[in-house]
Amino acid sequence: MNKRSGASSTGKYLNTGNGLCLNYIDLGHPDYVAVVEPDTAFWSLVKKDQLGEVVSGNIIVDKLKIHLKDMNKEMETLRFKLKPSAVYFNPTEQCNLNCPYCYIPSRMRKQGRHMSWGKIDEAFQILKGYFGESLPERQKPQIVFHGSEPLMNKDAVFRAIETYGRDFSFGVQTNGTLLEQKDFDFLSSNNVMIGLSIDGPAEEISDQTRKNWNNAGTFKKLLKTLEICQDYPLLSVICTVTEHNIKSLTEIVDFFHAHHIKNCLINQVRCTLEGGRQVKPSDSEMAEMFIKALDRTHELFRQTGRKLIVANFANILLGIVAPSARRLMCDISPCGAGRCFFAVSAKGDVFPCSEFIGLKNFKGGNLFKDNLSEILNSIPFQIVTKRKIEDIKPCSKCAIRHFCGSPCPAEAFEINGGMAYPGAFCEFYEEQVRYAFRLIADGKENDYLWDNWDDNTSEVFRF
Ligand code: SF4
Ligand code: SF4
Repeated sequence: MNKRSGASSTGKYLNTGNGLCLNYIDLGHPDYVAVVEPDTAFWSLVKKDQLGEVVSGNIIVDKLKIHLKDMNKEMETLRFKLKPSAVYFNPTEQCNLNCPYCYIPSRMRKQGRHMSWGKIDEAFQILKGYFGESLPERQKPQIVFHGSEPLMNKDAVFRAIETYGRDFSFGVQTNGTLLEQKDFDFLSSNNVMIGLSIDGPAEEISDQTRKNWNNAGTFKKLLKTLEICQDYPLLSVICTVTEHNIKSLTEIVDFFHAHHIKNCLINQVRCTLEGGRQVKPSDSEMAEMFIKALDRTHELFRQTGRKLIVANFANILLGIVAPSARRLMCDISPCGAGRCFFAVSAKGDVFPCSEFIGLKNFKGGNLFKDNLSEILNSIPFQIVTKRKIEDIKPCSKCAIRHFCGSPCPAEAFEINGGMAYPGAFCEFYEEQVRYAFRLIADGKENDYLWDNWDDNTSEVFRF
């Protein structure tokens, strides 16, 4: 009798009783299918004409059993044992733009408050104390100034960077409209990561979403900002994909590459709030255009030798080739919200992720009034940090569940009515994972990943 399951099966047969469960996935590749053990995210590519032989013998099972414990342990650590090491910090509620898909409610962005320097200073002392106890000494926590638009409160943000440079590493996520040469000089001299939002390669596309409260576009200024920052190694450009720019993704890739961008995110719009839902492209179009855009990055790389990494896809690829090396934490279950990082609003309210800032039921407490450790263990945080893929339909049976993670809990809650449901882009994830496996089958995966991505990693198991 197996003590854990109570079933008498000895587990010697695949896919029955206590036996290992191996799923196969048709990749749309001429020669290969993938065989996946979903719980550990183990996979192997198998020649189509050898699939029967592989699943009827014990070729995979015997090898896998030797490494199962280690692989389970690695997945367990990644999913449940990480500690927060980053904060998305909103130094203001205000934004000078009114992008339709923003996850911050418009009344906050229009009439909201700044956090004063005094309050930022107090907040950073609290965060410094918390991380000083929770993280190893050599690990510097990260603070990303996030939006609304952090540079609406530029003086206080810059003062914080100057004052706390030894305690935190910093990033700024900005719409780029308020960033001038002297600001860039300051940020770059302090090694601050810059995330710049750009939704299109030209005015008529970008200005459909990136516009101010008077409906005036911002592309001309964005272009100037991009020219100021484009060669900065710590720059990342973020394109949010909506029905307005979905057909232009390959041109957007050309535009970023022509501006020497090395790292970008081409993110599907989050549908947590109604504004995002209204501009959502269909899953199938998102998948088709996104894959064309990825193909284009590869063509450009082959032509010029310069990579443009699409970080959100690279992260899925890494989730397959080296699960623990992934850099972003949306595509793992539970996601990183509340367990790898958390968000602080301009009032000091603490949420699992910025995506929850408009949802008051997910406030865990207030940084200035409540104990931070207790906030991170509060019921609103637990609802998010305990959302796991095994409890979500149809994800619990999905072979790629640990490459996708069923994001996003905020979307799932707001669109589908609870944490036991998937978010908005299931089909898009299916297609990305199939594409990633095709690249691996053709030996091209490194062309889509950062150079030296595997520094500081070690190989646990090669099949
Ligand atoms: S969202 Fe879709 S692709 Fe992702 S784990 Fe769930 S069922 Fe699988
Ligand atoms: S999946 Fe959603 S809640 Fe989780 S980290 Fe990503 S954006 Fe935040």
